[in-house]
Amino acid sequence: MERIAIIGGGPGGLMLARLLQLRGFSPVVFERDQHAAERPQGGSLDLHGQTGQRALRLAGLENAFIAASRPEHQGDRLYDSAGTLLFDRDDPADDRPEIDRTALRRILLDSLEPGTVRWGQKISQIAAVERGFAVIGPDWRAEFDVVVGADGAWSRVRPLLSEAIPAYEGVTLVELGFDAGQHPAVHALTGSGKMFAVGDNRALITQRNGFGHIRGYAGLRLSEAIARQWQTMPPAQVRMALAQAFAGWAPGLLALVETGTFLGVRPLYALPVGHCWQSRAGLTLLGDAAHLMSPFAGEGVNLALADAADLAEALTETMTEAPDWAAVTRYEETICARAAIAAEGAAQGLNGAFSSRGVSPVLEHYRARVRDA
Ligand SMILES: Cc1cc2nc3c(=O)[nH]c(=O)nc-3n(C[C@H](O)[C@H](O)[C@H](O)COP(=O)(O)OP(=O)(O)OC[C@H]3O[C@@H](n4cnc5c(N)ncnc54)[C@H](O)[C@@H]3O)c2cc1C
Repeated sequence: MERIAIIGGGPGGLMLARLLQLRGFSPVVFERDQHAAERPQGGSLDLHGQTGQRALRLAGLENAFIAASRPEHQGDRLYDSAGTLLFDRDDPADDRPEIDRTALRRILLDSLEPGTVRWGQKISQIAAVERGFAVIGPDWRAEFDVVVGADGAWSRVRPLLSEAIPAYEGVTLVELGFDAGQHPAVHALTGSGKMFAVGDNRALITQRNGFGHIRGYAGLRLSEAIARQWQTMPPAQVRMALAQAFAGWAPGLLALVETGTFLGVRPLYALPVGHCWQSRAGLTLLGDAAHLMSPFAGEGVNLALADAADLAEALTETMTEAPDWAAVTRYEETICARAAIAAEGAAQGLNGAFSSRGVSPVLEHYRARVRDA
């Protein structure tokens, strides 16, 4: 049986491993985290019917997803910086249930054969060898017929296929955490799903997660150098800088910055819209490694899961029928075209949310979505 290495145990890499195992392959996943609980996995994700949910169905994990997901948390609220509620859609009728990242990762991990994920293996390099590629870990090297880069934004696999480097999007998010029980005002502000408060080139966002947790983001336009500096500053100093940046906003909104538990400073990066590469036998990409974009289209994880479903099919064709790479080349064309549309939407979403026109572009976007539904 051919040997397949998947670099990265995020949602895309784990989904690919699961789907390949269902097809009789024995892939190995190399993940840099020491274990599944090493770091918090981040906020809630909404999975879409034709991409994320479809992949879970193909993986036989639909019931586990239904049990862990929260269809009741799909609401949207929009405020201006004065705290006026401009849009309120508390309607959970959409087919985009939310799931915590940790729960999604757990479902995928539990579905894999024991030993599939090699934890604590940060891959430093991939090198071409006579037949396939060598994967080089902390103190070892192993050769594989196929290597899949599912290693996210700063992929170690991508440079073998493409010269593209993620560019800073000009916007940085400071991530904050709230316990809904201890923060009744944040609980009330957030409504049944997600709330955006948008002002001049700034936004405060909260998002309901599982277990009574609310994740918050204070987003603003910063130069890359300042964003890097904020990443090294103590939380109290970041909070002071944020309080200055959001001065004049309604007290109920400013309280988010003042009271949230500090979780980190995250500058947003993206690959060029439409990023693709010259196909190379034995090596390919999926998810953020292939098409990193800002979260403002809400498509990243959905694309990663959909890519995994398409790649599992393409690899099966490549490895069990004709011994050539054509099916994977077609897969790459498909995912690049699909991601280009989402990346365009993400760029528009980011520039709409952080605009000198304040809340208007986001309000127009929300109203159009309801009109077109
Ligand atoms: C603030 C924020 C909010 C977001 N919100 C949403 C949302 O609401 N909806 C949505 O669809 N998407 C959202 N996204 C995007 C989404 O998180 C990503 O698109 C998705 O996680 C991509 O999955 P992936 O498997 O391709 O990569 P990742 O999730 O990045 O996983 C990559 C894995 O590879 C591992 N890795 C990296 N380098 C190495 C290495 N050298 N060796 C070994 N392992 C390595 C990492 O530890 C990680 O586990 C958001 C992103 C951010 C930053």
